[in-house]
Amino acid sequence: MGAQAVSFGDRLQAKWHRQLARHLDRDLRPLTGSMPVISFTFDDAPQSAFERGGDIVRAEGGSATYFCSLGLLGAQTEVGRMASLQHLQRAIHQGHELGCHTYDHLDGWRTAQETFMHSIEKNALAFKTLLGVEPPLHFAYPKSGARWPLKRAVSRRFVTCRGGAESLNAKVADLHLLKACFLDQRAGWPLDDLRALIDLNRRQCGWLIFATHDVDPKPTAFGCTPQRLKEVVQHAAQSGALLCTMTQACQAMNLIDVTGAGGRN
Ligand SMILES: [Zn+2]
Repeated sequence: MGAQAVSFGDRLQAKWHRQLARHLDRDLRPLTGSMPVISFTFDDAPQSAFERGGDIVRAEGGSATYFCSLGLLGAQTEVGRMASLQHLQRAIHQGHELGCHTYDHLDGWRTAQETFMHSIEKNALAFKTLLGVEPPLHFAYPKSGARWPLKRAVSRRFVTCRGGAESLNAKVADLHLLKACFLDQRAGWPLDDLRALIDLNRRQCGWLIFATHDVDPKPTAFGCTPQRLKEVVQHAAQSGALLCTMTQACQAMNLIDVTGAGGRN
């Protein structure tokens, strides 16, 4: 979910935050995979993303990554009803991956670093106590996105951190702030443009990360319809790209060791 800048001052501050986060504390890595990679990611994540989104990705032989704020489990939010523990367990069983989105779904631009990092640790603990799994290897920034120097602290905790930027990762990627393209209604990408981006990713043998929230016939501004997701996933599969989780993508791009145990090459 995103915060909206409403004044000129807010817009200037937002631009400043984005520039600093984009250019400082980078971990630039060459993408050396032998085939294009596309990851479908769902933020927060609402029930509809688990009940519809994951199956749409699976229908084309892929696996998705859900960036979860476990403090939201079962709650009603602006992107619909959040998933239950059973949704998360089913997703793991089906081969999908769970990532971190802070426990409390915090906005890094408006939260003290100590509070933000505490929420990440709280989420990690909840993954262990509620699901019996290791803390996630991957992180996606809620709401406004990354802020420097918060980026420095968060990136020490994860193998990758994902932002937005509405673009693909090609040739070189900043693992501390990977680019993603939102399928949300608010982003307003025409389907043909999304297909063109997938084709560009194929030609550049890059890593394209799609993101959204709810997947519903009547989506919120932060979500998309099942039909739109299906068309994008199908074109992604037809492009010959590997449709995979964030960890699998890192392995395919030779960014982490094959165990995915958090150790980078
Ligand atoms: Zn979110």
